[in-house]
Amino acid sequence: MYKIPLFDLNFGEEEIQAVVNTIRSSWISTGPKCEEFENLFSTMLNVKYAITLTNCTCALHLACVVLGIKEGDEVICPSLTFAASVNCIRYVNATPVFCDIKSHEHINIDADEIEKLITPKTKAIIVVHMAGFPAEMGKIMGIAKKHNLFVIEDACHGPLSEYKGKKLGTIGDVGCFSFFSNKNISTGEGGMLVTNNEDIAKRVRLLRSHGMTTMSYQRAKGHATAYDVVDLGYNYRMDDLRAALGISQLHHLKEDLEKRARVRAWYLDALKNIDKVIVPFAETNEFVSNYIMPIVLKDSTIDNRDRVREALHAKGIQTSVHYPAVHRFSIYAGSYCLPKTEYITDNEITLPMYSKLTNSDINFIAESLEVVF
Ligand SMILES: *Cc1c(COP(=O)(O)O)cnc(C)c1O
Repeated sequence: MYKIPLFDLNFGEEEIQAVVNTIRSSWISTGPKCEEFENLFSTMLNVKYAITLTNCTCALHLACVVLGIKEGDEVICPSLTFAASVNCIRYVNATPVFCDIKSHEHINIDADEIEKLITPKTKAIIVVHMAGFPAEMGKIMGIAKKHNLFVIEDACHGPLSEYKGKKLGTIGDVGCFSFFSNKNISTGEGGMLVTNNEDIAKRVRLLRSHGMTTMSYQRAKGHATAYDVVDLGYNYRMDDLRAALGISQLHHLKEDLEKRARVRAWYLDALKNIDKVIVPFAETNEFVSNYIMPIVLKDSTIDNRDRVREALHAKGIQTSVHYPAVHRFSIYAGSYCLPKTEYITDNEITLPMYSKLTNSDINFIAESLEVVF
């Protein structure tokens, strides 16, 4: 056991009661709780449609399907992300085109680099907002418009994060969210797709449940008796137990994010005199989710980074790496020129981040880091 883990759940009595009440209601599959979760989520994000799904990987897959991405198409994406943001391109037999990040300080996809990678085959851009910090959405939407491309936001790290007054996930054509246990909103497994486009929303609802024209809940309610299968769909539904957890998580999301913002401020203060450490996005003033706390070691190597991580682990501080670069995985083997992504993947350390951390925890982490150099 670590003295300070990387992440800690923020569940309380409300989550326990939500699940118990849903069990007592005797409806546990997709039903009223999913609908309530969707309505609350779309209201909080100020987006027209929100659709619950089994996880974010399904959301990313359906995003590619509904946008008509197919074999022969190219999709520009970052490599500094979780594998699912890229695998979804392969699910529809399209080709991922990896784009480097902007800098060691702004570790999101580089808008200027995106434009250089566009070919007649390019169909879409997948944007990931690392740690909940917004990518350069103004520039990216401008490029997409100019070249007639779709934009999929993998907003897994950024529920309620903002970019110039808009919530992340609601700026592109489709936004995808994850409620995996260690995300800002935890339901065990879970996901949500958001969009302002009615046709996209309708097709996603159809595809999440086998392309069937009605769902069991509607039939149980007597609103429908028969169904047709009108599209080749999947079973990508969320259940009401998870949706009930999600609703209670949303009830205290804002408060949780405010606490995280305070934790980040303590980190910025405690790390400011350690000159071997870069804190990405240190200059960002937007309201963000602070899903994780990434730092980057200056003038470092992978061996040095691993040495620092081991020293922190010896002190009881759990760390992680976000991310092992996707282009280095066996299934994406090839030759790529992504020097900034490679520097970050070799020299980044993710420090603990969750709302219960105290100022003295952060000082302990910073002191443990300082003595390693
Ligand atoms: C967690 C995560 C995913 C995958 O989400 P699941 O709900 O586990 O499928 C995709 N992209 C990013 C950036 C993530 O952090």
